[in-house]
Amino acid sequence: MNTFNQIKISRSALVHNYHICRQAAGGAAIMPLVKADGYGHGMIDCARIFAEQGAAAFGVAEAREGVLLRAAGITQPILVLVGVISDTLRTIVEAGLTPVVTDAAVLPELSRVAGACRTEVGLHIKLDAGMGRQGVLPAEFIDTVQAIRRLPHLRIDGIMAHFPMSDDRQSDNTVLVLDMFLKTTGSSADYGLDRCCLHLANSGGLFYVAGARLDMVRPGIALYGYYPDGADGRKNAVSPLLQPAMRFVTRIIQVRTLEAGRSLGYSHLFTTTRPSRIAVLPVGYEDGYLRVLSNRAQVLIHGQRVPVVGRISMNLTLVDVTDLGREVHPGEEVVLLGSQGEEEITADEIADWMQTISYEVLCLFGNLNARTMV
Ligand code: PLP
Repeated sequence: MNTFNQIKISRSALVHNYHICRQAAGGAAIMPLVKADGYGHGMIDCARIFAEQGAAAFGVAEAREGVLLRAAGITQPILVLVGVISDTLRTIVEAGLTPVVTDAAVLPELSRVAGACRTEVGLHIKLDAGMGRQGVLPAEFIDTVQAIRRLPHLRIDGIMAHFPMSDDRQSDNTVLVLDMFLKTTGSSADYGLDRCCLHLANSGGLFYVAGARLDMVRPGIALYGYYPDGADGRKNAVSPLLQPAMRFVTRIIQVRTLEAGRSLGYSHLFTTTRPSRIAVLPVGYEDGYLRVLSNRAQVLIHGQRVPVVGRISMNLTLVDVTDLGREVHPGEEVVLLGSQGEEEITADEIADWMQTISYEVLCLFGNLNARTMV
């Protein structure tokens, strides 16, 4: 990892966002999603912070992450959302993780492993209420519940589903998914499941879908400071206001004065049209600062925006500082993501330049660079 580039995670922003989610959740419990190394923010640090604030459970993708959280002292239930397959069952049971069952075929083996470990496993059933990706179909739900009840050492602690479009506030799909989920789980009491935890809402469900909060909510992106639809809280007067928790900074390593007509970098993608001051940054696509940002992105220096010029290469990026109105020097801080002075570059803005979503920007930058909590 390049030592010039640093990801800085704001503890106070994470705490702030947790409390915004807490308020929006009403009485529902909060299960922060900390998979993908906490969306690039550091799974263990984030889980500890959210646990201190009262998180009821955590969501990870795979057993390996749950084992790391247990080793770090996280005692809350940890739901393994993906990859509950026979190879991983012993790890899940031994680490006291909560398997999310998406396929009834795994149940006999889960029951056998639980018996061998002399324990009872509390599982959650994932229902495919419209996501169309993974999960038990509504028509199979009762059979699955009955199959679990016939097997020893297994207990149903929860039933969940996932919204495919809760980030689209205009979409009718969320209402359909919520209805399907409530209709399918509505008869759970008849099967002795009246005390099990129902959960459906991701960040979009939490903020935008009335009635989706149920017993527990599962925010991810909102905890890290972004709205799932890329809404800018300040510009669109979205309430409540989240605070982006990640900054990505580097430093100037060289500044050059070039005459008009000089072509820069690979493929000569940019040619100076005037005498120019060009600063060299030690960041490139190896660090997640992708080539697609060539001639397109901006960065902050001395609290002002300056353009990236020319092709971003593996380890180097050029920015044009001619219009900055002051000298810049090697060693000075450059902000690629986050704020400096009054200016801010958000993950949503970078996502627009990269034609993706904030989630991908955060995972990319956060998981490829050295990280510190500030
Ligand atoms: N629940 C599940 C099952 C997920 O897979 C995710 C994220 O992918 C979330 C909740 C959190 O979603 P978001 O980050 O949009 O809040």
